[in-house]
Amino acid sequence: MIPGQKRVLILGGTRDAIELATQAAAIPGVVVVTSLAGRTREPVIQSENTRIGGFGGISGLADYLHQQRIDLLIDATHPFAAQISFNAAAATRHVGIPRLMLVRPPWQSVPGDRWLEVESNAAAAAMLPELAQRIFLTIGRQELAAFAHLQQLWFLMRMIDPPHPDARIPHGKLLLERGPFLLENERSLLQAHKIEAIVSKNSGGTATYAKIIAARELGLPVVMVQRPAIPDGETVSDVRASLTWLKTQLNL
Ligand code: NAP
Repeated sequence: MIPGQKRVLILGGTRDAIELATQAAAIPGVVVVTSLAGRTREPVIQSENTRIGGFGGISGLADYLHQQRIDLLIDATHPFAAQISFNAAAATRHVGIPRLMLVRPPWQSVPGDRWLEVESNAAAAAMLPELAQRIFLTIGRQELAAFAHLQQLWFLMRMIDPPHPDARIPHGKLLLERGPFLLENERSLLQAHKIEAIVSKNSGGTATYAKIIAARELGLPVVMVQRPAIPDGETVSDVRASLTWLKTQLNL
């Protein structure tokens, strides 16, 4: 650790975090460390300054911030990764360093969309039997069990890595793919599998939005799972504003 350098920890797992880390690392005097949870087998890693794996709760993260002499933390995790965001809020408060949240805006429905907004995967599962028989499930692999009891329905399930061999998963077909996804491909996918409804998290961003457009075009309902609550604190919605915050914090 070189005197005068400022050390920034970016909690990642999103495309915005990758872009932010690249641009922040280009600021003279700034050292960027990106942290990933280690959920995907082949994560997109943009520099050697990446650490992988949980910290061990609030106290583990606070210890890490202290030991690594982190000056600033930017929480650029996915909007549905709420636990790490609350941990980051508590740990930075404990250690006494500034924290920013980079939260991309949620998608908003537009005319033609047939959204059914729900609070949770369980609520999404509860409405499916009345809605459709063939469903495109795009919630990742970690929460598939919420739909596993719906044995009379058929699911096309898209995720980056396969589910754990012991995981309870719904009946249907797995599609192992990483976005971004193109509109024409999403349209063909829905048609080829005779999909009647989509279940999606309201993740926001452009990389996975094409399925929402395709659903609109085809007149399909989208069961849209709303975001969990995140901690209070200073929040921006894009990489550029994060860099402005960073430079302000560093008096640049
Ligand atoms: P979560 O429920 O908020 O966090 C669960 C635990 O995972 C945390 O307590 C922490 O473990 C560890 N963790 C999460 N993010 C971490 C990070 N960036 N670095 C180090 N440890 C991390 O998180 P999640 O929803 O499982 O998401 C995990 C990762 O996947 C995040 O980086 C997120 O940005 C990314 N991601 C999530 C989703 C989603 O839909 N949830 C979608 C795309 C990407 P300890 O308590 O041991 O520190």
